[in-house]
Amino acid sequence: MWIANQHAAFSLDLAGGGRLTEILNLARGVDFIGSAPNLKTPFWRLTIRRKDGKIVTVDSSAVAQPKVSHLSATGVKAPGVSHAKADLEWPPCGVPECQGTVTVRADLFVEADSPMLNARLTIDNKLTDAGLWSVEFPSSRRSARPARSTWPCHAAIGVAAQRVCRRPGRTLPVGLLADAVCLRDLRAVHAVSGRPSSRMWSEELVAPGRRRVQVSARAAGHGQTGRRFRHEPRRRVRPDRGRLVRRGTRLPPVGRSQIWMSKGPLDKRDDMPRKLRDGLVWLLLDGEPKGVVQQALAAQDFLGVPIGIHWYNWHKIPFDDDYPHYFPTKDGVADAVKTLKDRGIYVMPYINGRLWDIDTADFKTVAEPACTKDAAGKPYIETYGSGQKLVPMCPTTTVWQDKVCEIIDGLVNKVGFNAVYLDQIAAAGPRQCMDASHGHPLGGGAWWAPAYWKLMDRVQEIGAKKGPEVFFTTENNAESYSQNIDAFLIWNPRRPEMIPINAVVYGGMRVHFANRVHPGDSDMAFAMKVGATSCGARSSAGWRPSISSPRTRTRRLLPPARQGADDGKQVPGLRQDAPSAGNRVSGKVSAEWYGEGKVEHTVTWPAVAGASWLAPDGHVGVIFTNYDDRPHTIDFRRHRKPIN
Ligand SMILES: [Zn+2]
Repeated sequence: MWIANQHAAFSLDLAGGGRLTEILNLARGVDFIGSAPNLKTPFWRLTIRRKDGKIVTVDSSAVAQPKVSHLSATGVKAPGVSHAKADLEWPPCGVPECQGTVTVRADLFVEADSPMLNARLTIDNKLTDAGLWSVEFPSSRRSARPARSTWPCHAAIGVAAQRVCRRPGRTLPVGLLADAVCLRDLRAVHAVSGRPSSRMWSEELVAPGRRRVQVSARAAGHGQTGRRFRHEPRRRVRPDRGRLVRRGTRLPPVGRSQIWMSKGPLDKRDDMPRKLRDGLVWLLLDGEPKGVVQQALAAQDFLGVPIGIHWYNWHKIPFDDDYPHYFPTKDGVADAVKTLKDRGIYVMPYINGRLWDIDTADFKTVAEPACTKDAAGKPYIETYGSGQKLVPMCPTTTVWQDKVCEIIDGLVNKVGFNAVYLDQIAAAGPRQCMDASHGHPLGGGAWWAPAYWKLMDRVQEIGAKKGPEVFFTTENNAESYSQNIDAFLIWNPRRPEMIPINAVVYGGMRVHFANRVHPGDSDMAFAMKVGATSCGARSSAGWRPSISSPRTRTRRLLPPARQGADDGKQVPGLRQDAPSAGNRVSGKVSAEWYGEGKVEHTVTWPAVAGASWLAPDGHVGVIFTNYDDRPHTIDFRRHRKPIN
């Protein structure tokens, strides 16, 4: 059976219970699944938890052929026809080792004049001794050529890596880009939210065996008997050629109407410092106030541009230990903050926005009732480099909201910091909290991000009372917090294949900052990493350069990065990793790039990179970066098609 219009066609093999066997972009002649038989990937799969805790699964391949109704049209439609739709209903099916049945229905339609399949499952759950745990839908096989596949690494810079992510299956905070599944080269299937919503927050993209793609939703009311399930909003699958990357106008009609975009474009906002919007150079500093002040002032003198300090270990407790008891500060911190602020420097301490140490004296009495818990009622435990057992707190609870606000009040009003970094909020996945006393739906649902919105609104109120210069940041880039977190620290190691999806889609709407550089990187590697993301992604320079030997290239890179079209969005032009056709550079540069701890890439690029940006007033700015010490010539031609 086909669901199709003039742009796209989706083929379902119903005989075996239903498989998505073809996804075609008709205009471009692209087949996203390929010609190989798609025998092993069911259209949907349900994970079900029995009362005794055992997990079982059932999928569409185990059920008889669905009944089809409300079929408005089949086959490839002529231009101008509105919808092609179909409703599928599978017969009630039993689940292994469970009593009762589940009945699955899917409603599918293709939008008029768009290559977009809208899809939704509704599940009637008549199991008496088990409940829905998670729902995978839609699943499909993806095309071969994995070496050229593109997969979004949402927790990184908001880039797509043009290879399969090595760690698929992350549970992500809410977001649209989190659901952008790119399949081949820059051709993409996007499964995105259909309308303004805060509901999608717990989705997993999984590529098991590198050949299957699925989007998984955790069911609200995790494992509870009798709980129905319905995808809300619908899943949207769009075979496209990745214009999301090259044209910032592709997603915004959806993306910019989301709740997290409600503050509007940066150039219209007066609730964050202009210097933050324009881009600070960030220094990652650590430890005693005396050394921090010395390094910060030396860097400011050397660079001659606005800088910010991201200050770790300003507290007496060890890192990732005894959280959240950050006070007292090390001796002399308040004086150091004043000294730096008097020099116009932003001083931003590290705190964690999620974790409480389980061996603190007040964990049992204060924290445990408010922490996230698994299905057995046990606190979730996370460990990091310190080895301490750290528990993510449930953001819906007043205990955690009050504790974070108490810490922020101390940092801003008592110590005098003019910014605070709250770690993990836009990076770590939501926990499927099963504590019924918290009042949120158990497990899955749409409650995690809104709880952080409420918390961050309170945090922002504390900052606003102090003054307009105070701002708050977090780790990485889940876009769902853009309305009440001022900037997003993109720290993941840079890789040469990265492309700035986030900067293109949300350019001019949110601030990304920092640039991960390894102390072992050569000057050339440093220049390539910082230069590429500064001009192509507007992520500001700095964060981990070695301050003891200031990089002259940092200083040289800053003016072009800062004189880009303010608050603009990227427009079609040069990609930052290679000039497009018609743009010729007279030479190349090469360097070995460090990853986390060792050299992971040998990168050879044209010596000059560039990107063009559109300012809110319509002016186009073109930014070039010459990574080399020697001059080079470039023959640059802008994309002929202007962005709208
Ligand atoms: Zn909870």
